[in-house]
Amino acid sequence: MESCLFCKIAAGAIPCTKVAETDHVLAFRDIDPKAPTHVLLIPKRHLSESAADLNAGHGTLLGELFALAADIARREGLEGGWRLVTNVGPDAGQSVQHLHLHLLGGRALGWPPG
Ligand code: 5GP
Ligand code: ZN
Repeated sequence: MESCLFCKIAAGAIPCTKVAETDHVLAFRDIDPKAPTHVLLIPKRHLSESAADLNAGHGTLLGELFALAADIARREGLEGGWRLVTNVGPDAGQSVQHLHLHLLGGRALGWPPG
């Protein structure tokens, strides 16, 4: 999608600090980190605007996203724990309409989130 920020990052048109990638997933550091480790994981393709539009047909891609997140958490040394978040819609504060997971860790994470 031409106007989508994360599509531009996936295409290399906007730079990012890449952490890892697979055939279908890109992981890069959030520009405004909310924890010592704050990595965004996105499908390279504009699969959906958010988790609200997912279905069982996306299972393989979602498995790839979660497996890469766990791999990054290991490599970042997040033995104490970590969190995956996906914001959907304005009440959750979603600001980029391209499905993404936030991987957060490196400090104690409050619960429930704000
Ligand atoms: P959301 O608010 O949609 O759940 O998450 C979007 C995230 O993208 C935010 O945490 C924000 O800091 C991050 N972000 C926005 N613009 C950029 C950018 O140009 N580069 C990177 N690396 N992260 C960005
Ligand atoms: Zn996109």
